[in-house]
Amino acid sequence: MHDIHIIGGGLAGSEAAWQLAEAGFKVRLSEMRGVEGTPAHHTDDLAELVCSNSFRSDDAEKNAVGLLHEEMRTLGSLILREGDAHRVPAGSALAMDRDGFSAGVTAAITAHPNIELVRERIDALPDGPAIIATGPLTAANLAGAIAAETGQDALAFFDAIAPIVHRDSIDMETCWFQSRWNKGDGKDYINCPMNREEYDAFIQALLDGEKTEFKQWEKDTPYFDGCMPIEVMASRGKETLRHGPMKPVGLDDPRTGRWPCAVVQLRQDNALGTLWNIVGFQTKLKHAEQVRIFRMIPGLQNAEFARLGGLHRNTFLRSPVLLDDTFRLKSRLHVRFAGQITGCEGYVESAAIGLLAGRFAAAELAGRTLAPPPPTTALGALLGHITGGGEADTYQPMNVNFGLFPPFESLPRKADRKLAYTNRARADLATWQEEIAAVPA
Ligand code: FAD
Repeated sequence: MHDIHIIGGGLAGSEAAWQLAEAGFKVRLSEMRGVEGTPAHHTDDLAELVCSNSFRSDDAEKNAVGLLHEEMRTLGSLILREGDAHRVPAGSALAMDRDGFSAGVTAAITAHPNIELVRERIDALPDGPAIIATGPLTAANLAGAIAAETGQDALAFFDAIAPIVHRDSIDMETCWFQSRWNKGDGKDYINCPMNREEYDAFIQALLDGEKTEFKQWEKDTPYFDGCMPIEVMASRGKETLRHGPMKPVGLDDPRTGRWPCAVVQLRQDNALGTLWNIVGFQTKLKHAEQVRIFRMIPGLQNAEFARLGGLHRNTFLRSPVLLDDTFRLKSRLHVRFAGQITGCEGYVESAAIGLLAGRFAAAELAGRTLAPPPPTTALGALLGHITGGGEADTYQPMNVNFGLFPPFESLPRKADRKLAYTNRARADLATWQEEIAAVPA
């Protein structure tokens, strides 16, 4: 008999299982690899790293993902413990021996007396308490069952990600706020104007830029038509983008009073207004090329990117409307989701959501309520992005970054902004831990 069923033994499912087992609950962990593979995994080990062997920066004072590492270590993360144990030299990044790491996670899970690891594929939503952590490549039958429960539109099968820019890196001397034809409140978009020479050079750069190829299984996924990469649009004709995402009509450049030759628009991406996405700019350009080419856009010459564009297969929920603030499916409260399927991005973020989902579920099984971590912490900022922050219609997976944190009302001009975020997060996480420890068991 088990207290809770976890489906998927990846980064999130393994971490969630560990948290629940350590809290004393019996876990059935179902992992289909061993019976059936995925297009990206190569082994049967739990928590396999499907691509890079890095958890990115480990510097908590300069990078939000480093802060997330620190918070997860504080909360007893198995994934961070094994990452640290199998560390390889990588400068300030936390990189690891991938086989040693996954073998370490598998051994810890297998040896835990409260976890039963079962190699099986699950095709339906469970009836009892459960966490679904089946990741970006969720098997088709279960994906179908989830779509039947949530509605087809609520489950995406592709990331069509436009780059996201930190608002404070946009040059507002060049750009201006305006909605096309002054619709809505008239100022919903940030507009970057281009003259003819700038537009022609930009189109040429898109055509010449180095691209990432689609893998066969990505080509085979039937959801691609609606999200054409910007460079593919550019290849259809020099004027195509001026009649598509870069059309200038209805946008008056305040410096000339006229419509420019072309306009790149940015739309607010988070409730805080700290992040803005470049509208319609999903792309298969390589990351370094995106930085180079998108900084050619007037006003974005110093742009700092919270995330770069992409287009690949990825199963994820419209979490802001479907999940409550402890990752429970609102229509079936006994079912939680965790990991990349909730719309976070990356190994560490997936494991972090697994950790939180495991802790929320453990509290619930114990008849308690666990207060969510404050939004000023990396864990809380990520939780806010998934369950409350983004617009449901344009919701796209995202790595943790300081743009997801509530901004400071004021900071001394020369203050180190990142360090200030980290210091505030450290203090608030400590207070939260004291508060949750004080709740009677
Ligand atoms: P996963 O780690 O994928 O775990 C899900 C598990 O569920 C899998 O083991 C799968 O076999 C199992 N499963 C699926 N369906 C079922 C079912 N019906 N029944 C039972 N088991 C099931 N992130 C990075 O940070 N760096 C990278 O370099 C990186 N590269 C990526 C490359 C690719 C091709 C993909 C697809 C993603 C990549 N990611 C990367 C993104 C993401 O962080 C990882 O996919 C991460 O593993 C997600 O963790 P997860 O636990 O949510 O899912």
